[in-house]
Amino acid sequence: MYKIGEIIKSQDEFFKLGRTRDIDFRISSLIKLKNGICRYEDAIFDALKRDLGKSKAESYMTEIGFVLDEINFVIKNLRKWSKPKRVKTSISQIPGKSYIYREPYGKVLIMSPWNYPFQLSIAPLIGAIAGGNCAVIKPSEYSTYTSSLLKSLIEEVFESEYVKVIEGGREINQRILKEKFDYIFFTGSVEVGKIVMQAASSSLTPLTLELGGKSPCIVDRECNISTAAKKIAWGKFINSGQTCVAPDYLVIHKDVKSKFIECFKENIKKFYGDNPIKSSDYSKIINIKHFERLESYLNTGNILVGGELDVKNRKISPTLIDNISMEDNIMKEEIFGPILPIIEYEDVNEAISFIIEMPKPLALYLFTDNKSIEKKILNEVSFGGGCVNDTIIHLASSHMPFGGVGNSGIGSYHGKFSYDTFTHSKSILKKYNFFDTNLRYPPYKGKLEKIKKILK
Ligand code: NAD
Repeated sequence: MYKIGEIIKSQDEFFKLGRTRDIDFRISSLIKLKNGICRYEDAIFDALKRDLGKSKAESYMTEIGFVLDEINFVIKNLRKWSKPKRVKTSISQIPGKSYIYREPYGKVLIMSPWNYPFQLSIAPLIGAIAGGNCAVIKPSEYSTYTSSLLKSLIEEVFESEYVKVIEGGREINQRILKEKFDYIFFTGSVEVGKIVMQAASSSLTPLTLELGGKSPCIVDRECNISTAAKKIAWGKFINSGQTCVAPDYLVIHKDVKSKFIECFKENIKKFYGDNPIKSSDYSKIINIKHFERLESYLNTGNILVGGELDVKNRKISPTLIDNISMEDNIMKEEIFGPILPIIEYEDVNEAISFIIEMPKPLALYLFTDNKSIEKKILNEVSFGGGCVNDTIIHLASSHMPFGGVGNSGIGSYHGKFSYDTFTHSKSILKKYNFFDTNLRYPPYKGKLEKIKKILK
C-alpha cells in the first residue's frame, strides 16, 4: 500500500534541497535514464509484447528509439535552453536590461495511458527532469507488464524522492489527484482529462492535457493513391490502431475511392500477409473490454476489407468499413482500434464542413498534390498537428510541439517544448540606478502629455 502523502512530502523536501536546479545534475540524470533504458531494452521488448503484442521493430521505433532520440536531443541543448534569455527592454523601463529566467515548478505528476505505455511515461519525464523537477509517474493499470517494468527501471536509476513510479488503478489515481503537485501532465482520454482538470482546479495546479479524439484523413483526387493507401494503412494499423494520432476515419474523393480500396487491400497483404491476425508484426487489443467495444462497431455499415476476429488472442484484422452513418457509435466515439470507416465526398468544401462539425481533432492528414486545396484545408480546419502526404510521423520530431487544441488537449511537448512546459518563465527587469525619471511618480500635474509620448 503506497503512503502517497509521504512520497509527495519526501519529493517536496528533496526539491527544496536545490539539487535538481543544477544543470549538471539534470544532465547526469538524463544520462542515467538513457543508460537504464539501454540496459532494460530486452525487458521493455518483452513487456510490450505481453501487454500489446508489439513486435520488436515497432516497439523500438515508437517507444524505445523515440525516447532515446529525445534524451540525446535534450542533453545536447539543455545548457543553452537553461541560460537566462536576454530580451528587449521597453523604452518606459530604461535604463535597464530584461531577461527571461526559466525555473522548475517543483513536484510534477505524470499520468500516462496504456497504448504507448513506455514512451508516454518516459517522454514527459525527460521534460520534467530537464526542467529541474521531481516527478511521480502513474502509468496505466491496463498495461501491467510495462507499468511494473517502469517501476523497476526507475527504482534502479533514481532515488524515490526524486522520481517515483506508483502503480495501481482508479482508486490510487483518485488518491494521487487529491495531493498537491506543482504541475500535472496528463495523457489519456477526454473523459478522464476532465476529471484531472477538475482536481487540478481546486489547488490551481497548472497542467497539460494530451488527449485524443477523432483524427480525420482526407484523400484528394489529385494525389498518388498507391502511396496514400500504403501510408494510411501503416498509420492506421500500427499498434492495431491504438494510437492517439491514428487516422480515425477516411474522407475520400469519390473518383479515387475504388482505386484506393484496391491499393489499401494490397498493402495490408504486403505488410501482414494473407492472414493478418496471425502475423507477429500485428499487435493485439489491450483487453477484452476494448475488444468487445471494437467488435460492436463491426455491426454497422458494410465491411469492405477485414472484419475477422480472434477472441483468444484479442486480435481484429485490419478493417475498412463503408456505408456508415453519423448516428452510428463508430462516428460518435474515438475508434482506437484497427477499423477505418470510409466516407466519400465530391467537393472539398463538403469534406471541410463535415470535419469542422466535430470537436477539434488531435491530428489531421491530407493527401493531395494540389497546393490550393492544401492551403484551404490548413487555413480552415483547426487541429493539433498533422501531415500533408503522410500519417503519424509528425509527432516523432524534437523540433515541433506535439499537442492538441480544444477537445484534443491543452499544451504541448517534445524537445524544447517539453522544457518550456515543465518550467515557469520568470520575467526579470534589472534596473540601473544612475538615472530615474520622475515621470511615473506623483504629483502628475503636467506629466500626462509626456507619458502619452512614451506609451503610445
Ligand atoms: P484513460 O483516460 O482511460 O487513462 C489515462 C490515465 O488516467 C491512466 O493512467 C489511468 O489509470 C487514469 N485514469 C483512468 N480513469 C481514471 C479516473 N476515473 N480517475 C482518475 N484517473 C483515471 O486513457 P487510456 O484508455 O489509457 O488511453 C486512451 C486515450 O488516451 C485515448 O483517448 C487516446 O487518444 C488518448 N491518448 C492521447 C495521447 C496524446 O498524446 N495526446 C497519447 C495516447 C493516448
